[in-house]
Amino acid sequence: MIIVMKPGTPDAEAVKVQESLEKQGFYINVSKGLNYCILGVVGDTSMIDPKRITVNDYVEKVMRVQEPFKRANRMFHPENTVVNVGGVQIGGKKLAVIAGPCSIETDEQMNSVAESVKEAGASLLRGGAFKPRTSPYSFQGLKEKGLDMLGEAGSKNGLPIVTEIMSADKLDQFVGKVDLIQVGARNMQNFELLKELGKTQVPILLKRGLAATIEEWIMSAEYIMAGGNENVILCERGIRTYETYTRNTLDLSAIPAVKKLSHLPVVVDPSHAAGMWWMVEPLAKAAIAVGADGLMIEVHNDPENAWCDGAQSLKPERFANLMQDLKNIAPIVGREL
Ligand code: PEP
Ligand code: MN
Repeated sequence: MIIVMKPGTPDAEAVKVQESLEKQGFYINVSKGLNYCILGVVGDTSMIDPKRITVNDYVEKVMRVQEPFKRANRMFHPENTVVNVGGVQIGGKKLAVIAGPCSIETDEQMNSVAESVKEAGASLLRGGAFKPRTSPYSFQGLKEKGLDMLGEAGSKNGLPIVTEIMSADKLDQFVGKVDLIQVGARNMQNFELLKELGKTQVPILLKRGLAATIEEWIMSAEYIMAGGNENVILCERGIRTYETYTRNTLDLSAIPAVKKLSHLPVVVDPSHAAGMWWMVEPLAKAAIAVGADGLMIEVHNDPENAWCDGAQSLKPERFANLMQDLKNIAPIVGREL
């Protein structure tokens, strides 16, 4: 971090700033000229809030040369993190594909989808039991009953399960039952929920917020990690832009950016990004090409009659075809499926 003092700042005032930071354990590199004074703060400055320094009238500006996140930062952890989700490794050479319906509806639906995605080569089963719906009148999910149905379909087909948590008071029901707990886009900055998830060791799939910057997204991962849970997987699912043709705009550039900034695995959800089933296939391929560690794809055995997100769900046959194509693409980018 670099602190630029205003021209003409009395020496004593610059020394006060210097000493206060030294007391906090930082080494200060002072660069002084006739009309300027610059303090270079050396150490882990992720804990410093720059605004607390700029309130000083003698400070011209404060610039970060280091990101405000530490545990998620690749600088302090150069090798890729591989998260073990119920025996499936996410973040290694092998790509992980999470597939399943938006919502858990019936046992028949869950078993049918689970069987077909397993057959096609998916490694994890998704399904929403607690649904964050825009309208309070829309289907809100089967809740606890849905969790059990998802668990049964997963264990019958040998697939670890992924499902969304919306509030910390349900955490006891998730721990021990759910292999990968999803934090949805709308809860990415629910800091109290993130703190509670940080107290567990359950792998967390952290979706990017509707309008979150890459730094805000990684800071949310940092919340979970700061509590002691380092098993975090990031999920790009499209962001809000001025474009309305697609449900969201898939930010493919976020994948190489996050890979540069952080050691955490990144998966891409092209279904919620596009909102249309026919765009899922090209976007899934693009995501793998730009370095994603895996995908999360909505698959439904009867999309026309799905209780939620049918328009963006692939039929099992299309999903199987896509998996075949991905198997061919993976080696080109040094991965396997
Ligand atoms: C979901 O995956 O079911 C979901 C609601 O996604 P998002 O939080 O990305 O909207
Ligand atoms: Mn959905």
